[in-house]
Amino acid sequence: MRLEGKTILISAAGQGIGRASAIACAREGAKVIAVDINDETLATLPAEAGGIEVHKLDVCDRAAIEALAAKLPDLDGLFNCAGFVHNGTVLDISESDWAFSLELNVTSMFRMTQAFLPGMLKQADKTGTAAILNMSSMASSIKGFPMRAAYGTTKAAVIGLTKSIAADFVGKGIRCNALCPGTVDTPSLRGRIASAPDPVEAEKNFIARQPMGRLATVDDMTPMVIYLLGDESRYVSGQTLLVDGGVTI
Ligand code: NAD
Repeated sequence: MRLEGKTILISAAGQGIGRASAIACAREGAKVIAVDINDETLATLPAEAGGIEVHKLDVCDRAAIEALAAKLPDLDGLFNCAGFVHNGTVLDISESDWAFSLELNVTSMFRMTQAFLPGMLKQADKTGTAAILNMSSMASSIKGFPMRAAYGTTKAAVIGLTKSIAADFVGKGIRCNALCPGTVDTPSLRGRIASAPDPVEAEKNFIARQPMGRLATVDDMTPMVIYLLGDESRYVSGQTLLVDGGVTI
């Protein structure tokens, strides 16, 4: 098993990529700590081999993050997956929507890293390695997409944060990488399609921007998550790993 003996915390684990990652990591032998703001979806996570421990957590709440970090063992892996897609051009974004996107997509990762990295450094001292994975997107500094001004800005910032963490701690056994998916079929994508003026056309357009002719599934993402959180990627740090179905060819 590729993650045997590792303790890995995954945010946004109630649904979508985070949930699939929690299940996949547990199947690879990790002890998974699954957190989400929604404890109802967390409660439906299946109890996989080594067990998935669930905790309700708002990744925007510093006090709650610190309280959880104080209760948990030192981590071998941290997957900061939580994020939100704002739909609009730079002219459409209110001050509060801009602040919310930054808060959830970027500042949450800064807080989670501040809370969990000290324990990960201790763990890396013992085992030689610990890994942080931050959720970015192909819609970031990598490529511009229409109606993604706030989102693309925040996901570009995630790449900057990722590279900074990687650079600062590369000599201390910590690796930090960013996952950059294409368009993934998840509950929130279905919500974006359903709330479009013409949902059928919206789904067609999401598929049309994927050159492989289909949306990604969450299971297209999990092999890369396992790789980046595990020792197979021990010589990989500070990278933006695209799993985009060829969008950026
Ligand atoms: P999703 O958007 O369907 O679900 C997000 C989860 O995050 C939900 O379970 C929600 O309860 C949780 N969440 C929201 N706010 C939270 C908070 N404050 N604290 C803790 N949990 C919170 O899932 P998804 O589409 O798989 O997206 C997950 C990540 O992947 C996001 O960062 C997203 O930007 C990124 N991403 C998604 C796609 C895509 O096409 N779906 C593409 C690229 C990147």
